[in-house]
Amino acid sequence: MGAIVYWALIRIAILLPLLWIALDYIEYKYWWALFSLAIYGIIIQPIIIQYKLFKEQNSQVISNSLCSTCKHFDETAVLCLKYDEHPSKDIIPCEGTDWQPK
Ligand code: SF4
Repeated sequence: MGAIVYWALIRIAILLPLLWIALDYIEYKYWWALFSLAIYGIIIQPIIIQYKLFKEQNSQVISNSLCSTCKHFDETAVLCLKYDEHPSKDIIPCEGTDWQPK
């Protein structure tokens, strides 16, 4: 999740100055259309795609793992809050010793 936010901020930091510069070269009425398309195509759409990929890649850990039933597990970040590590389908950071029911 952090990577999705990080790259979204990078794209925003690059895109907004470019759009600001484009304002000098494009008529204002067309600039808003360009602005809207750029925001959607370069910022919002990649976030949606990256989030879907994130959910697909972690669906098994989120729904069907030891960590998914533990109170230390944060589903939104796929993170063990106790160990501050990302469990995977093959790796459980505590190896089951610190599991506690939700
Ligand atoms: S404490 Fe252990 S079982 Fe619970 S979320 Fe962390 S790694 Fe998974």
